[in-house]
Amino acid sequence: MTPRTELGALARRYDLVIVGGGITGAGILREAVRSGARVLLVEAADFASGTSSASSKLVHGGLRYLKNGQWRLTLESVRERQRLLEEAPGLVDPQPFLMPIYADRKPGRWLMQIGLRIYDAMAGVRRSHWMTREALLAAEPCLDERHLLGAMAYEDARTDDARLVLRLIFEAVAEGATALNYVRAELCQTSGRVRGVRLHDEIRGTVREIDAELVINATGAWAGQLPGAPDGAPRLRPLRGSHLVLPLQRLPLRHAVSWLHPQDGRPVFAYPWEGAVVYGTTDLDHREDLAALRITSAELDYLLAGLSRQFPRLRITAADALSTYAGVRPVIDSGKANPSAESRESALWSSPGLVGITGGKLTTFRTTAREVLRAAARQLPQLAPGADRPVFTSAMVPATQQRLYGRLGIAAAGAFLQEIPGDELQPVGDTPYSWGELRWAARHEAVVHLDDLLLRRTRLGLVSAHGGEAWLMRILDICREELGWDADRCTAEAQRYRALWRARHAPPA
Ligand SMILES: Cc1cc2nc3c(=O)[nH]c(=O)nc-3n(C[C@H](O)[C@H](O)[C@H](O)COP(=O)(O)OP(=O)(O)OC[C@H]3O[C@@H](n4cnc5c(N)ncnc54)[C@H](O)[C@@H]3O)c2cc1C
Repeated sequence: MTPRTELGALARRYDLVIVGGGITGAGILREAVRSGARVLLVEAADFASGTSSASSKLVHGGLRYLKNGQWRLTLESVRERQRLLEEAPGLVDPQPFLMPIYADRKPGRWLMQIGLRIYDAMAGVRRSHWMTREALLAAEPCLDERHLLGAMAYEDARTDDARLVLRLIFEAVAEGATALNYVRAELCQTSGRVRGVRLHDEIRGTVREIDAELVINATGAWAGQLPGAPDGAPRLRPLRGSHLVLPLQRLPLRHAVSWLHPQDGRPVFAYPWEGAVVYGTTDLDHREDLAALRITSAELDYLLAGLSRQFPRLRITAADALSTYAGVRPVIDSGKANPSAESRESALWSSPGLVGITGGKLTTFRTTAREVLRAAARQLPQLAPGADRPVFTSAMVPATQQRLYGRLGIAAAGAFLQEIPGDELQPVGDTPYSWGELRWAARHEAVVHLDDLLLRRTRLGLVSAHGGEAWLMRILDICREELGWDADRCTAEAQRYRALWRARHAPPA
């Protein structure tokens, strides 16, 4: 990918226009470009800035969906997890889980064992096993020891959700697609048929109309709010989920640990991620504006109560958190009293010139994309998905470079190693990111604002103290060199980033 494309550089007409640059839109873009169609994706803010950078970052079957009887979703997710583990090492990696079992609390060992046997059978691999109390405490000494019997050990996978989206988009662009961030779309209709989109460049203030044979509404939680769209979108129930990011030194975990929250019996989990620990999540109706997303004090209390149950000796408080983040699940409203009982399946709808998709999971983006293209092919046969090929190609690379190849993809990682000077391969502080990754992103990854670089191209703003304040000046120097920012722009970007970080990511006082 080159720096950001402008509206003026677009063609007058595309076969397919995808509105929404989260995992759903990115997955569709990746599949659609292979059909040879002329495809454009537009995202109102930065790529992955919606729900797709605020997930729990697991590529998982969803054990709890099994409990809800959602067999199809679990099976599909487990299979996708296995495929992604093979296709994208360094981006999607195995994540060992432990579920401690206690004599005086749920879940019981046998129920978990049955569930995990089914989970293993779906994946075609046997990973789950019983771990004795002694082995468990040797592995995770901070667990609550009272009435502890042992743990069920099993395996899922973790990813960097924003990077997953970015890799899909940039590789699709390398194959001929066009993708623009900070471009908001509204639909244009004539005689009851969607004919194209009116695009608003949020940076330059320009507007342009583009014709499209077909438009896809992949705007997730915003699906019912797309201006100009005909009726037909399902009623959504936006469910907020919030997470804490903690320093690994305060919650020194080697595995993911999952347990049931003492207040409502919902599963919560904490696991090492990008040099810190991600812990979540909540599941509540989000009744406010979708733009006003942040953790509330009540959610913070809930999460801390969960931590003190499982790790009582650590006495973790809000002051320990490095950051927080909140996202909204685009869940279809079936009117269940308990938000967590709502199905996480996706919903698809069509009208002349339009296909809509919402709901679903990060994990199943490929199957969702293929389903959408099958529906799209009923209106534009050229879009019928071809053979079910791997989404990503992996290469045999030294273990030390696996992460880079996973995050950037083979072609970009190869170019990175040629372009980036050796002294910039040094990490930024004790984070897993190198200075070179920041330079690479600023140069090649359509960075518009400082927050794109700190919250999505890298996750420095989440995993370091005070949003990475300590490195801001050096990072701005990179932006000056690569993006041509002058002193005023650097000041404005730093102010914007600090305000955004305080509003959305700072732990509540
Ligand atoms: C707390 C939480 C935890 C989760 N954990 C997991 C997990 O561990 N594993 C998993 O598989 N799934 C998980 N999920 C589910 C998963 O994250 C979501 O289903 C997925 O990210 C939704 O992606 P999306 O592309 O549909 O929506 P989004 O990522 O929200 O993308 C939609 C995009 O559309 C853009 N948009 C809106 N209107 C317009 C417009 N007019 N013009 C242009 N663009 C527009 C928005 O800016 C947004 O970026 C989790 C979800 C939440 C909330």
